[in-house]
Amino acid sequence: MLIVMREHASQACVDKVINFIESNGFETHLSTGKLHTVIGAVGDKVIDPRNIELLDGVQEVIKVSSGFKLTSRMFQSEDSIIEVNGVKFGGKYTGIIAGPCTIESYDQMDKTAEALSKSNVKILRGGAFKPRTSPYAFQGLGEEGLKIIRSVADNHGMAVTSEIMDTSQLDLFEKYVDIYQIGARNMQNYNLLKEMGHVNKPIVLKRGLSATFEELLLSAEYILSGGNREVILCERGIRTFEKYTRNTLDLSAIPVIKKLSHLPIIIDPSHGTGLRDKVAPMSRASVAAGCDGLIIEVHYNPEVAICDGAQSLYPEQYDELYKELKQIAPIVNKEIY
Ligand code: PEP
Ligand code: MN
Repeated sequence: MLIVMREHASQACVDKVINFIESNGFETHLSTGKLHTVIGAVGDKVIDPRNIELLDGVQEVIKVSSGFKLTSRMFQSEDSIIEVNGVKFGGKYTGIIAGPCTIESYDQMDKTAEALSKSNVKILRGGAFKPRTSPYAFQGLGEEGLKIIRSVADNHGMAVTSEIMDTSQLDLFEKYVDIYQIGARNMQNYNLLKEMGHVNKPIVLKRGLSATFEELLLSAEYILSGGNREVILCERGIRTFEKYTRNTLDLSAIPVIKKLSHLPIIIDPSHGTGLRDKVAPMSRASVAAGCDGLIIEVHYNPEVAICDGAQSLYPEQYDELYKELKQIAPIVNKEIY
């Protein structure tokens, strides 16, 4: 249930409504827009909406039938803008995250970050715990990897994002990352999502391999309802019958999510296609469609990459792409850092 307050309703009126709703067993979440304050009431109790409509300052009570409430545009009409290390995602901003699939060594991270920093990259990606399809494939360097990415990022003035796979890794990640990445395979790891609701850093939440947009937004709702509003949604391709690409990158995510939700939606063209030569065209298409950001795999030398080399760009390719994206963005009223 969403309670839309009248324009300029007083704080006393808002407080009274909150008290009333909470005393009826609901949790409340507040959205203070330019004109209206919206109170989100979440819980499994039943309340007659007319009793709320009668309270002073209430304009309208909207019963939200879908499960996503706090993530919805109805709760917050303005775009959420999430800022990390000076890079903004959402609204008129398109942020970029780049780096290798996995952290292999200090040297590999340093060479990659060194090159990327020349192309203005301010957020470095790299997995230390890798969700590999085969248990025999490289599983990541673990804490050692997190130490490496942190130290390399610090040396180059960058922020860090890395994938957390399990609630047992919470303390570890708190020490090393600026953005928690929830991978496609963990989009429905509800225990992990609940924990993400309690951390005070942004989350990149990837769409599951065969998840609908509604399921993606419901997963985000777990995080927002826990108190963390800084969620960046990520389309990374879904499983279809197509075999020429690793996944099918569903760019309709951009207009669909933007209509349903205030949260930023970014695109991962690397996992979305699985092939280096498809990354630039799909990145250009994403920016043209108004995405709020991109997460792109880049390796200083993809030929020797332990993981996902075929979909990783060479730094020079990234640099060329970045220049193109900077030209496309203003056409759709966006800005790239
Ligand atoms: C990744 O970003 O390295 C990754 C494993 O992505 P996804 O969860 O989208 O497969
Ligand atoms: Mn990868």
